[in-house]
Amino acid sequence: MNLSKYRRPIQFAFSGLVFYVISVFSNGLAIVFGVSIVLGAVFGKMFCKWMCPMGLFMEFMTRNMNEDQSKAHMYNYYKLGCPISWVQGFLNKYSLFKIKRNEATCTSCGLCDKACYISSLNTSTSLYKKNKETPAEAFSCSKCLKCIDVCPKNSLELKM
Ligand code: SF4
Ligand code: SF4
Repeated sequence: MNLSKYRRPIQFAFSGLVFYVISVFSNGLAIVFGVSIVLGAVFGKMFCKWMCPMGLFMEFMTRNMNEDQSKAHMYNYYKLGCPISWVQGFLNKYSLFKIKRNEATCTSCGLCDKACYISSLNTSTSLYKKNKETPAEAFSCSKCLKCIDVCPKNSLELKM
C-alpha cells in the first residue's frame, strides 16, 4: 500500500479534525489519545506526520531547511515528540502494517537508506542490509514513507 502521495491532504484533514476534537470536547485529548493507540497498533508511529496539528505547523516552519538540516531535525525531534508519539513509537515494532522489502526485486541500490533520516544518520540501521536493524521499526520512524517513495523498483511497501 503506498499512501505517501496522499500524505499532505490526509495530514491537513486529520490535523484539522484533531484540533477540532481537542478544542470542542472536554475529553478531546483522551479521545485523540485512545484513537492514536489503536492507529499505532495498526500503522505504528504515524500521528506526527499524518495527523498532528503541531507536526503540520512544524513542517511549515522548517520547510526551508536544506536536506541535511531537515534530516538532523527529524532524527532528533522524532526521538522526543509527545506522549502520543511515545506510545506509537513503541508500537512501531509490533504494528500490523510494516514497511517490508521484496528481496526478489531489490537491487541493493541504497537509495532508501539515503532518503531515510534514521539510516542516513545512524549507520547501524538499514532498510535493505540484512545484518542491520531496520529503521522502519525504530522508535523514531514517523512513517514518512520517503523510503517507499524513492525506491526505483517498488521493492518497499507498507503492508501486513
Ligand atoms: S531503494 Fe529499493 S531497490 Fe534500492 S536498496 Fe532500497 S529497497 Fe532495494
Ligand atoms: S518511513 Fe521509511 S524513510 Fe521514513 S523514517 Fe521510517 S524508515 Fe525512514
